[in-house]
Amino acid sequence: MKIIAIGRNYTEHIAELKNERPSEPVVFMKPDTAILKNNDPFYYPEFSQDIHYEVEILVKISKEGKYIQEKFAPKYYDTIGIGIDFTARDLQQKAKEKGLPWLLAKGFNGSAPISDFVDKGQFPDLQNLNFRLEVDGELKQQGNTSLMLFPIDQLIAYVSQFITLKKGDILFTGTPKGVGPIQRGNTLVAYVEDQKLLTCEIK
Ligand code: MG
Repeated sequence: MKIIAIGRNYTEHIAELKNERPSEPVVFMKPDTAILKNNDPFYYPEFSQDIHYEVEILVKISKEGKYIQEKFAPKYYDTIGIGIDFTARDLQQKAKEKGLPWLLAKGFNGSAPISDFVDKGQFPDLQNLNFRLEVDGELKQQGNTSLMLFPIDQLIAYVSQFITLKKGDILFTGTPKGVGPIQRGNTLVAYVEDQKLLTCEIK
């Protein structure tokens, strides 16, 4: 399986990092070794001093497709979840300055804690979904999918022109504002609406 992630998909997050608003989705990948499941802890690596959380809604692809039309995109996923796109902001900043790829800043081991996936049918409107991240019980990020620049179905249509999506692939759909650093000892908890779906301790 593969993880496809979208950067700069919420206006206020673009502003907080002083990035340019994209005219097309910004797409990157993480390797499958980035995944942390079952609320496993994250071990802070030595190569970074500035790892940030980015809470994001996830979509799990349920069947193979390419050149998927936006109107048919919902047929390609049945479940959603929540995850954290851990980012080594210091490494990413260096890469951005030199115009180099983000892979190591975004794709390191454990950089993608993911929740269990839940039936999308329980949510009346996937493009009006509240989600949030608490760190040690304090609200740090709060988003609503209505604020995405490129909604889920558009992302699937866009990405699948270039990359065949396969069953089991996971799409990270971008983070709202409020990203910030993690420290050893923090506990991160992520919710979709009022369902607590993900816990991640930092060790
Ligand atoms: Mg992100």
